[in-house]
Amino acid sequence: MACLFCKIAAGEIPCTKVYEDEQFLAFRDIQPKAKSHILLIPKKHIPTLNDLAEDDTELAGKWLQTAKKIAELEGLKENGYRTVINCNQDAGQEVFHIHIHILGGEKLSTIN
Ligand code: AMP
Ligand code: ZN
Repeated sequence: MACLFCKIAAGEIPCTKVYEDEQFLAFRDIQPKAKSHILLIPKKHIPTLNDLAEDDTELAGKWLQTAKKIAELEGLKENGYRTVINCNQDAGQEVFHIHIHILGGEKLSTIN
């Protein structure tokens, strides 16, 4: 198994865990880009958003619901937060196991 986030999900590489259930794991980004920067992954290995299959529709819905839950757990709900999914080189994707970045805890710079 070569995938970094699969290794984290398997407990082979340590992480600072924020949330875990049967299907998902959330942990703190090792190089945070905001006061609060969490990565939420499905435990299932899916390399990029392009690889999300029709069969993953239920998982994708739960993934987003879980992002909302984590934002609430982290105390970001009221002031707000940003969710980001980078896909492939133009977006600068570095780890090819899909993840949602959840960023907040401070005023974020605008992206548009
Ligand atoms: P992306 O550019 O969307 O692929 O984001 C990958 C993110 O994973 C980056 O923000 C990295 O800082 C983060 N990252 C890389 N290795 C680790 C690790 N071992 N634990 C936590 N976060 C990591
Ligand atoms: Zn993986």
